Amino acid sequence: MPDARRCKILCTLGPASRTPETLGAMLDAGMDAARLNFSHGDHDDHARTFEAVRGAADRRSRPVAVLADLQGPKIRLGILPDEGYLLEAGAHVILRAGSATGAAQTRDATILPTPFAPLAAEVGPGDTILLADGAVELRVERVEGADVHCAVVHGAPISSHKGINLPGVRLSVPALTDKDAADLAFALDLGVDLVALSFVRHPDDLVRAREVMDRVGRRCPIVAKIEKPQAIEHLDGIVRAADGIMVARGDLGVEMGPEEVPILQKRIIETANRVGKLVITATQMLESMIEAPRPTRAEASDVANAVLDGSDTLMLSAETAVGRDPVRVVETMDRIIRTTEAAPRYWSEPPEALDFPHTTNAIARAAVDCARTLPDVRAIVTYTGSGGIARLVSGYRPQVPIVALTPSRETYHALALFWGVVPRHWVPPDTRGDRMFHDIDAALLADGFTPGDQVVITFGHPVEAHTSVNLLRIHRVGSFCGDG
Ligand code: PEP
Repeated sequence: MPDARRCKILCTLGPASRTPETLGAMLDAGMDAARLNFSHGDHDDHARTFEAVRGAADRRSRPVAVLADLQGPKIRLGILPDEGYLLEAGAHVILRAGSATGAAQTRDATILPTPFAPLAAEVGPGDTILLADGAVELRVERVEGADVHCAVVHGAPISSHKGINLPGVRLSVPALTDKDAADLAFALDLGVDLVALSFVRHPDDLVRAREVMDRVGRRCPIVAKIEKPQAIEHLDGIVRAADGIMVARGDLGVEMGPEEVPILQKRIIETANRVGKLVITATQMLESMIEAPRPTRAEASDVANAVLDGSDTLMLSAETAVGRDPVRVVETMDRIIRTTEAAPRYWSEPPEALDFPHTTNAIARAAVDCARTLPDVRAIVTYTGSGGIARLVSGYRPQVPIVALTPSRETYHALALFWGVVPRHWVPPDTRGDRMFHDIDAALLADGFTPGDQVVITFGHPVEAHTSVNLLRIHRVGSFCGDG
């Protein structure tokens, strides 16, 4: 039985991490899941990356969850000259809405194109516009046709395709753009395990994504990225409507101010934990390691605090997509998480019961109670088709690993992202009567459990009836007394 880390590591893949060798080394270092960022690259790039990461995982007989992160209504600048522009405080900028080209800089004004045509209708005098993650702050002076005239409040160098944020502006564009719908259909065909929606503002934003999924004929879990003030206003509803949540601290910090991020992070994680939903904490976790061989002490503390706050998963962004040494970054995060999980304070407060009146939840809770009551339980073992029981057990944060035996390749990969779950692809040879216990016992012995280890086993019985999980058995590995 492996010494399982509970909190999982999700790595954004990019030019620094696309080769089979690097991906293999990242998996060996502790990568549990990969993020394809649809803000960059084309479908061919994503298809190649998907095949490369799944290939590297298959060669190691390991699961790897793949998350497609859709761009959403992210507003960006168009094309600027290669050397970019320097915007100085007090200068005059014209944001020209609806064109990708036409940048120019004269003594009187800098013209910055943006393909986002509705911009001129969305802002008015006095509004703040931030460029490049807040490096440049503009104040709108007036709007003339497609031109938004602004004064530069804080200046900085600026280059092509930098992001534009409109804090405080209630955008009317839908959360799922036409590009997102096309990317979503492509990602589902590719076989990704989860999809993340950017700039979610309301629970209804998830409805359109599910409609696209139904058209394609495949649903997969949706992670709602919390990065807008309106998402905070509707947090409870979004958490209920989504399958998981991401604390997207990059845009959240730009939209609401960096000082709001620490407490919001705790609030978002608590809200997700209360209902047992997956929660990913993201962005700038080991940012200095894009270049440096060691994290700052502040970054190490940030990673540890995100673990202590209750994250299921931590995400690496540029560190693994374009950083100098993605493998070292994963090793570093793995070490910080393991060290934090070894501290008694991590285990001090067991989560409350989930308000979900269903047999599977009752069994999940009971399994975790057994593992808490009996000091020598080594693992909770679930047999699951959909992964539902493993996700519920994960929500209760048991002290022992959750071994999820599943005949489904999809579930096997998807569960890799969930706290404490050790997925195993396993097709039971015979599901009749007590044979199932006998075969689970044999699978555990083959997986490194020692005869005499105590485990809690749960599954839906009889298996052929595809019933909800209804059975819990406390079992000593190797001491099978059934009819097998
Ligand atoms: C973020 O803003 O923190 C985030 C994760 O989103 P993206 O990387 O897509 O900007």
